[in-house]
Amino acid sequence: MKRGTIIVGAGIIGLATAECLLRLGFKVLLLEQGKVGQESSWAGGGILSPLMPWHYPEAVTRLTQYSANLFSEWASALHTSTGIDPEYSQCGMIVLPPYDIKTAIHWCSKNDIHINQLKLPRFIPSNRNGTIKQCDTMQQTILLPDIAQIRTPRLLQALRQRVIQLGGEIIENCTVQRLIVKRNSVSTLETSSGQFAADHYVIAAGAWSAKILGQYAFGLTIKPICGQMLLFKFEHPPIPAILTQSSTYLVPRKDGHLLIGSTSEDKGFNKRITVSARKQLLKSALAILPQLYKMPVIRQWSGLRPASPLNIPTIGQHPDLTNLYINSGHFRYGVTMAPASAEILTNTMIGAPQPFDVNPYQY
Ligand SMILES: Cc1cc2nc3c(=O)[nH]c(=O)nc-3n(C[C@H](O)[C@H](O)[C@H](O)COP(=O)(O)OP(=O)(O)OC[C@H]3O[C@@H](n4cnc5c(N)ncnc54)[C@H](O)[C@@H]3O)c2cc1C
Repeated sequence: MKRGTIIVGAGIIGLATAECLLRLGFKVLLLEQGKVGQESSWAGGGILSPLMPWHYPEAVTRLTQYSANLFSEWASALHTSTGIDPEYSQCGMIVLPPYDIKTAIHWCSKNDIHINQLKLPRFIPSNRNGTIKQCDTMQQTILLPDIAQIRTPRLLQALRQRVIQLGGEIIENCTVQRLIVKRNSVSTLETSSGQFAADHYVIAAGAWSAKILGQYAFGLTIKPICGQMLLFKFEHPPIPAILTQSSTYLVPRKDGHLLIGSTSEDKGFNKRITVSARKQLLKSALAILPQLYKMPVIRQWSGLRPASPLNIPTIGQHPDLTNLYINSGHFRYGVTMAPASAEILTNTMIGAPQPFDVNPYQY
């Protein structure tokens, strides 16, 4: 058994990091203030790509693409070892206008991403009588056929089980309150359940990461941005692929559930769901899929994304405290980025070569 590591936070990033370290023979303890995987990661839609990928810097493109390519094998290995199917599916994503088609085509060709231009019938939302009117043809609709989705609550359950199978320990309802620092390293974590010590510490506490670091945050600007989602249930999936338009997206699950996302609200750690968000999401979703008219919303929920500037996470060693590492700030794409972020952090901890230039993610 190698040296011991404590990971703070058992969302997708903490769990994926734990799984990666355990596979290498590390001893791992996860401390979670609530229950495993119930915060931002649970709320996620599970789209394994940025929504309009051409809007993001190279550092996001590289990390999301490398990570998305790991998913099929990762999900299948988790399914085999735990019996829990995270429902990975390469369903494709249809992008509806308005957007700049030239930029999209250029970006896809530069990044070797398949793209099909579609001519889809365009509908206008059903009126009060429920009639759906067909209008002209969309000239600028594209399908990105390689984009996949995963069912995040199931992925989290599978990861939890895998971590335990590999000998990892998880303590729930344990809030890390303070780092106790001696010289230039962390000596202990003060928590609601007493003190814990290890050789290495990883902060993977999502939107709470800077709060935990306190005076050692040193300009780390991760903050919560609330996202709300709606859930519908059809008998069969009403659409064959993920559909996205501007900031709205519809994700069909194979059992007929349909997710509608999402809002982006800067209101601190408040994640109360609201009527106004529900109306806003419904309005934009109806413009895309008029069949939703008169259908009941079966659930509404929210999560706090760990927001970082330009959506670039921090993955690496703390600049001052030698045994402290950060894997956080994945903002809108932490599910997509999880396996690659875990791999990069683990490589940093053991001094192994990285799959590409990881300087943009350094603290
Ligand atoms: C509505 C919505 C839709 C999204 N859709 C997608 C999508 O389609 N695709 C995609 O890739 N990403 C998506 N995301 C983003 C993605 O969910 C996040 O980037 C990701 O979940 C971040 O994971 P995390 O593990 O860092 O954070 P979290 O899941 O929030 O986990 C952090 C954990 O740390 C724990 N913690 C905090 N403080 C302490 C403490 N003091 N002590 C102990 N534990 C602590 C928390 O309780 C929590 O469990 C979406 C997010 C939202 C909100």
